[in-house]
Parts: sequence; structure tokens; C-alpha cells
Amino acid sequence: MTDCKKIADLIFKDVEKTAGYYENKYPPRGLKEGARVTRFAPSPTGYLHFGGLYAAFASKLTAQSTGGVFMLRIEDTDKKREIDDGVSAIIKGLSAFGVTADEGVTGSDSETGSYGPYVQSRRRDIYRAFARKLMEEGKAYPCFCTPQELEEIRAQQENEDIKGYYGRYARCRCLSDSEIEEKIKNCEPFTVRLRSTGDINRKITFDDMIKGKIEMSENVNDVVILKTDGIPTYHFAHAVDDHLMRTTHVIRGDEWIASVPLHLELFRALGFKPVKYAHIAPIMKEENGGKRKLSKRKDPEANVSYYTEKGYPEESVKEYMLTILNSNFEDWRRANKTADISAFPFNLKKMSLSGALFDMVKLNDVSKNVISLMTAQKVYSLLSEWAKEYDRELYSLLSQNPEKAQAILNIDRDNPKPRKDIACWSEIRDYVSYFYGELYSPDYSLPENINRADAYEILSKYKNIYKAEDTKEEWFAKIKELCSDCGFTPNVKEYKQNPGSFKGHVGDVSTVIRVAVTSRTNTPDLYYIMRILGDEALRRIERAAESYKG
Ligand code: GLU
Repeated sequence: MTDCKKIADLIFKDVEKTAGYYENKYPPRGLKEGARVTRFAPSPTGYLHFGGLYAAFASKLTAQSTGGVFMLRIEDTDKKREIDDGVSAIIKGLSAFGVTADEGVTGSDSETGSYGPYVQSRRRDIYRAFARKLMEEGKAYPCFCTPQELEEIRAQQENEDIKGYYGRYARCRCLSDSEIEEKIKNCEPFTVRLRSTGDINRKITFDDMIKGKIEMSENVNDVVILKTDGIPTYHFAHAVDDHLMRTTHVIRGDEWIASVPLHLELFRALGFKPVKYAHIAPIMKEENGGKRKLSKRKDPEANVSYYTEKGYPEESVKEYMLTILNSNFEDWRRANKTADISAFPFNLKKMSLSGALFDMVKLNDVSKNVISLMTAQKVYSLLSEWAKEYDRELYSLLSQNPEKAQAILNIDRDNPKPRKDIACWSEIRDYVSYFYGELYSPDYSLPENINRADAYEILSKYKNIYKAEDTKEEWFAKIKELCSDCGFTPNVKEYKQNPGSFKGHVGDVSTVIRVAVTSRTNTPDLYYIMRILGDEALRRIERAAESYKG
């Protein structure tokens, strides 16, 4: 008969505190009935993937909409795969889009909340206390198999349906106390394994909050819970952390579904109430008529920093994520045009089973709409913040004359049908370029239906009547007058009825002026553009006229 207590004492000599101590230290949260406690638990092994931001946002919305708590926990038990600045990249990516946690890690060396530490590498003692408890109860045992021995086992299992360390393959499951003591005395490296009580012929069922009822075979593997360095595996850390942090809902990628039987077994063995699971399918992208996963390797937009660099506002990205998170969001938005998204009743059950489809065109449309509803002051402040980091030249032009910049950004904005033509801040350099000599290079090309001689005539006459201080009505009256003077008609309808009698209509005359002033055929309201440019507008008209001469 094995003396489990004796073996546990031998193996966990370093463990001072008991599992009971930690249970008391992290009591149930006492939140109101129905409040959900969720977490985002990334590993700092690479940049923050859009799918990560998406899952974190789903977790945050779940907590927020129920008066619960959303935590950020860093799962850094795999030191080999960790990258420098992995934690700050995660925090930066989340906070750029407002997916900030109520509790947990706040910086590479800081955290907030009373259920921490929230970095797994700082929780070693906690895991060891619970592994010790399992071992004392005979639910875990040390395994001394070497990598070569494990390789042998794998080779023997080629024809087995179930692979892994179980049944007759679990060589260390039945070591005697004296064998264990001997091996430990000889300093043989060992892992700690769960002594599984699962039966392959028995099924477990669980209710996934997204995917519904799922039935799977029980786990039978004696999985490793502590590695040879005493660090826990993901599975064990998940059970211990989510229990002690009093997580109620684990929202994570569906690559973990296969591990649920093991996780439920761990919760049971540890005496914990199981969490509820919600497994998210990966975000998909359309390609060549088919669908594939949004890929870290192939798609620059898989990296959250793509959106920061391009300058998509937080509101746009959140609004877009909600359109793919919950199928009823767009209807809600139509009915609640100006409501804050925190008022949306987010529901895990309305998430896609097969994987939300990522669509850049849709993101741009959503963002154009969001930006069109912002005041010029807000656009100016968000744009400046972005340009300060990503476009210094633009930043200095904007900040040299904030009134001018805001006047530019206000064109066609302050009205019931604002222009929807800016999707992200990096588009603004081009959008405002003709307002700044430093960014502007004139191009007097005309549309095919307007000839240079007519353009010359229009501009030469216009320069004599244009006055920077004219009201919009006066300005437009002068353009109409100019039409008649140059053989064009101020009346588009008239032109359409009788095209042979005119060189063109008022639209063509405005185009000539627009090209002269901005080098474009399509711009926001030309009157306001010219007002902002002031005398420069007149100089440009003169220069353009000159270029069409002769
Ligand atoms: N660290 C795990 C991962 O990045 C977390 C999975 C989970 O949310 O439990 O996949």
C-alpha cells in the first residue's frame, strides 16, 4: 500500500502553504447573481492576433453586460516560446482598442486586483500546493520516464486508437514507494501526472455556451500536470487559476475543445466546481471562392498592430468586431443609431459556430460611418495622436495651425448627411494634401470632355470675379454667371435637353475650377476648400490658367 502522504512530503518539500490556505486567500467574489467573471489568457509568444482581440472583446462584453469582472492573465509557462516584449505587445494591442481589463496584468511588471498574481510564472507555489494535494490523495504520481522511453511508448502505440500515457503504457503509475524514493534519491528528473480515473467507454457531456451540447469520451490519459522543472502544464494551470480567480466563464479558441474531458476531470479531482465553457471558432477569410483561417503568416491584417499603424479608431474596430461577433448587432445599430456599444445586449449564444468571416471592405465601411459621425475636434485630436507616432510631417503641419486643420476636417461634416470617405487616419495625408504646399504637387489634367482652351477661358475670367470673402450664395452665383459668359449653361437639366447648344454645364465649369485649385475632380465642398485656402486659391487659379494657355 502506497503511503501517498510520505511521497508527497518527499516531492513537495519546498511547499509551505496548503491548498486550503489559497482557497481562503481567494474567496468567492460575492458578485450579484448572474454576474460573469471572464478572462483573456494569452501566452506572450508572438504579436496579438486579431482573433485574440476578438476573443478578449467577447470576454469583456460578457463580463460587462452582466456586471461581472474581466481579467487579463498572462500564461507564460512556456519560456522557450516566449518573445521579448510579448506582454507589452498584448497590453498595447488591447488598450489601443479599448479592450482593457478590470483586473489583472497592467504592464510588464505591474498588475491590479486581489486574485493575483496574474502572471503564471509567479504562481509556482500555488500550483505546487494543489499538485501536492492531489498527490496526497493518490490522484497524482511522479513519472520518471525519460524522453526516450516516452518515444518508445509512442512507437508501440502506432495501431492504438488512443495515444498517450495510460493503462499498460503508464509505466510509473504503479511504482512502489521504495522505487520512487530510490529514484528521487538518485536525482532522476520526474514529471507529475494525474492518475486518471476515466473510462474510454464512458461519455461526458457539457453545454458549450456557443456550440451547444457536446458529447465526448472521458479522458483516460495520465497527463502531465507539472513538468520536470516543476512548472505546470496549460491544463493544470487552467484548472487552478480559473478556480482560484473565481472565473465563471472560460471563453477561448475551439482548439481547446478536445481537452475539455481532461479539464473537467481535473476540476473534479481538485474538488473544484467546473467553469462554463464557450469555444470560439477561428476567424475566417474568403479566398478564391473558398474560406480559410485568417493567418498570422499570410495576412498582415491578422496582426492587431496593423490597425494601429493604419490608424483605425478604437470605436470603428469595436463596432466592426460587434458586427461579426453577434449577428443581430447591425439590426440593433439601425434601431439605436447613436447608442454606445456598451448598451448592446451581447450574447455568446449568438456567435458564429463555423467562424466569423473577416471582411476588410466591411471594416472600412463601418469605420467610414463611425468617423463621419465624429466632430471635427474629435477627428483632429485622434488624428493628431496617431500622426504624432506614425506621420511626423503630417503631425507638424496639423499642429502648426489647428484652426485650419479643424476647418478642413469640418468640411461636409456638420450636417445630416456627412461625407463617409475616411476609413482610417493614414488616409488623411492624401485627403488634406492640397491644403498644404508641403504635400501638394499640382496636376492640371482635365476630364476628356473639357478642352484646355475652354479651361483657359473659364479660369481667366473667373480670376477677375472671384473674391475670397464671398458668401456661398455669391460664390455660386458668380460661377453660374461665368457659365453663361463662356458658352456653358448653369442648368444641368437644360444641358441634358439640348446638349448641342452648350459646351457643357455648371458641373464642368466647377470641375475646371476644382482641378485648378485641388488637382482633383472629386473633393468635398469646393466653396469651403477655397475659403480655407484664401489667397492661395486665387494664385492656383492663375497658375492653372497659365498652364492651359496657348
Ligand atoms: N494561453 C492559452 C492560449 O493562448 C489560453 C487558452 C485559454 O484561454 O484558456 O491559447
